Amino acid sequence: MPSEFQLISQYFHRQRQDDSVILGIGDDAALLQIPEKEVLVATTDTFIVGRHCPERTSAYAIGHKALAVNLSDLAAMGARPRWVLLAISLPDSNEDFLREFSAGLFALADEHGVTVVGGDTTKGALSITITALGTVPRQQALTRHGAQVGDGIYVSGTVGDAGLGLQVALGKTVTLTTEQAAYCQARLDFPQPRLSLGLALRGLASACLDISDGLAQDLGHILQLSNVGADLALDQLPLSSPLKTLPPADTWQLALAAGDDYELCFTLSDENFAKLVAVDVPMTRIGTVSQALGLRLFYQGQPQDIDMTGYQHF
Ligand SMILES: [Mg+2]
Repeated sequence: MPSEFQLISQYFHRQRQDDSVILGIGDDAALLQIPEKEVLVATTDTFIVGRHCPERTSAYAIGHKALAVNLSDLAAMGARPRWVLLAISLPDSNEDFLREFSAGLFALADEHGVTVVGGDTTKGALSITITALGTVPRQQALTRHGAQVGDGIYVSGTVGDAGLGLQVALGKTVTLTTEQAAYCQARLDFPQPRLSLGLALRGLASACLDISDGLAQDLGHILQLSNVGADLALDQLPLSSPLKTLPPADTWQLALAAGDDYELCFTLSDENFAKLVAVDVPMTRIGTVSQALGLRLFYQGQPQDIDMTGYQHF
């Protein structure tokens, strides 16, 4: 088995021109330059195959997704992603896995100008922990606690696709065309962190988070921390064509309660919406922040009662 040092240097040590990295991989720790007047935004996520993605997921997709979920958290804070630290536990030194995994990870890192500045490999059950670091100007970070009564509630992209992709991956009976199934599986395996949207929302959105555990549950965090409620219009939920092929109850369940979409959900006043610049992802208004606490659902103006239990970690 190649040594830890050999593995890291073979798959994760790359020459990259990045002025913010004073010292990268190779010393005991990295030295990083935070831009003046900005603050460090730090997040970490552990990714366990079989738990956070189906066992059959490709090593390339695992590399992408393990990083994507971390970058999505930075996007939700309005941060610019900069640096990544990576800890991998592997049952054996599987070079095929490392080659594909690192290719998937670096493809996404390069797309967003992120530098890997530290790594650690150990022998053990397959598990990947990534720490992503970004920066944001002081006072401009997006948080979960500022939603105001009357603000619009928005989501990016479409919701429920990854949940439907998981059903496909698990072989549950779903009547989709081959193309629709492939689309949903790609949404599950290759979530796109909405970084440009997060940057555009800086200083404008009153609250923001990324949808990892289901729209209803995650929006609930904003409502709770902001001490407000919400009225949501089910007929406004942005849905892909595969989602629309399902019976309405299944569609709403996936759109509201399935996790892994990694779209942003945010609140914005009408005044600030007018100031928002165009970004590379569509956004849809799905409701309004209310004084009355709790989350109420409507379809064509009629109140609806739907099970909205999202992903439970324990
Ligand atoms: Mg998050």
